[in-house]
Amino acid sequence: MELVKLDMLYEGKAKKIYTTNITNQFIVTYKDDATAFNGEKKGSIGEKGVVNNKMSAILFQLLSEKGIENHYISLLNEREMVVKAVKIIPLEVIIRNVVAGSMAKRLGLEEGSPLKTPVLEFCYKNDELGDPLINDDHIMALQLADLTQIQQLKQMALNINKVLQQFFFNKELRLIDFKLEFGLFEDRIILADEISPDTCRLWDLTTNEKLDKDRFRRDLGNVEEAYKEVLNRIMN
Ligand code: UDP
Repeated sequence: MELVKLDMLYEGKAKKIYTTNITNQFIVTYKDDATAFNGEKKGSIGEKGVVNNKMSAILFQLLSEKGIENHYISLLNEREMVVKAVKIIPLEVIIRNVVAGSMAKRLGLEEGSPLKTPVLEFCYKNDELGDPLINDDHIMALQLADLTQIQQLKQMALNINKVLQQFFFNKELRLIDFKLEFGLFEDRIILADEISPDTCRLWDLTTNEKLDKDRFRRDLGNVEEAYKEVLNRIMN
């Protein structure tokens, strides 16, 4: 059966999600729009949608090969992918290997300091509240996930970190930190959302040049070039 795009289910800051004629399959459209600081800074990054679609597809396929289930099914075109229709758990799962961004600010640590062990943080996905940092007890009290699910989320996120860290290292990139979102599919927790320079901090292995959304957030210039550089390295 040919896949037909139907109604727009949701429009986020960087993506749109559409229902399709096939039950359990959605289409994700990646936009060039960029926002930062909880929507305060708005802009657009040339061809970002194309880069993030392709890069997410490559990384989701890699994770599938490593036995980590995720929502990716296939690429539809330059800006769109077909995914499993999951119910998103309203949590951002952040993994950090090196101090940066909000962790540097919150704890008064120097950006770039390596962490002895990876740090996992949960944030409550809520734009009005600015995605506040929460812990396991908040998650259970708010019934966002139960204890078993929290343990699964942590295990999956740490496994994903191992796979991605090694993969990026081979591409001469340091995986500083990243954000994941998970969803429920047939009662299982699977990885969803995207994995791109919008959601990962990636620094050049030798020069530590930032090749991610911090170029947009901090007005460092050459934003589009950085995204394309990451995609080029990944495809080679
Ligand atoms: N991140 C994200 N979406 C968010 C918040 C964070 O993709 O809404 C990513 C961000 O790109 C970085 C990591 O999660 O790779 C950690 O972000 P941090 O908490 O340092 O926040 P930021 O400095 O982006 O405000």
